[in-house]
Amino acid sequence: MMNRPGSLRLTWCRRCVLNSAVPGISFDDTGLCSICQKTPPEDTLAEQRAASRREMEDIIEKTRGARPYDCVVAFSGGKDSSYVLKTLVEIYKLSCLAVTIDNGFLSRGVVDNCKAVCGALGVDHIMFTPKTPFMTAMYRKSATSEEMHPRSAIQRASSICNSCIGVINTHMLRIALQQNIPIIAGGYIGGQLPKDTAYFRINLKANAQQRAVAVRRFVGHFGEDAADYFGLPPNAADRDVVVINPMLGLMLREDEIIETIGKFGWTRPTDTGVTSTNCRLNDLGVYIHSRRHGFHPYIFEMADQVRHGLLDREAAVAKLRALPEYAQIQWIADRLGVGHNEI
Ligand SMILES: [Zn+2]
Repeated sequence: MMNRPGSLRLTWCRRCVLNSAVPGISFDDTGLCSICQKTPPEDTLAEQRAASRREMEDIIEKTRGARPYDCVVAFSGGKDSSYVLKTLVEIYKLSCLAVTIDNGFLSRGVVDNCKAVCGALGVDHIMFTPKTPFMTAMYRKSATSEEMHPRSAIQRASSICNSCIGVINTHMLRIALQQNIPIIAGGYIGGQLPKDTAYFRINLKANAQQRAVAVRRFVGHFGEDAADYFGLPPNAADRDVVVINPMLGLMLREDEIIETIGKFGWTRPTDTGVTSTNCRLNDLGVYIHSRRHGFHPYIFEMADQVRHGLLDREAAVAKLRALPEYAQIQWIADRLGVGHNEI
């Protein structure tokens, strides 16, 4: 097959960066991957994005101003959620509560970045730090096993990231319920979710059974405290919550995002590896996932960005090939009490 930018052994799509190591990906005679083959033309996609954005804007219009906070923002302090916060405040005029989860591995620069962005935008900000023994146990188990997550989730993020995302999403739901906030906003970008839609509604009643099963699974893996971090209060079933991901309605290059939030004083951390701008644990997840599955956990989102002209193909391949530094992996593994032979 033609086009082999990253490896002599693998077939690489001639358009994006998906390769033959990713399960379920096939190639036609021209070297185009099965996802690129199914992707509609750019003008059709632009119409779909605009329609999804209009739905989101319609909800925002109907909701804005009725309560002290219109929106709780899952604000990691990284580049994408910083841009989301700016968009919600400056473009959509929403009253936002920014919430950061301190997972024990935040970059040393995250607090300064959070203060810079929330300060410039005039947004209330809270930091929530879950119990360290629970988080350490969760990460240790996630590093050595991934059976607690669906296979589809493991394709798009490492086991460690999936566990962390579960804690974050649940906490945002809890805050929305406790403070009667109608909208939750996230910083997801294209390729990170199975379906790229800027807006969806969670029916907590319909999801209650599914959540109860998941919580039991997490308790089995991570211990009793998991019920607090993955479960919701009993009255949650009466509520609907709207989730928006404004980045999915926008098409932005990373350099545009960083230039914009740079005006607030946001600076790129230097201790978070190649693919994260807020978390020092990320590299271990990337390392384990790449070794275990033979492909990078960020390959779907990078492929999506390349496919839509938001990231140069060569730059994406370079990022996918950049292995985490061994010293960093060792540092994280030591902090989690994970032995080298376990990963
Ligand atoms: Zn492709």
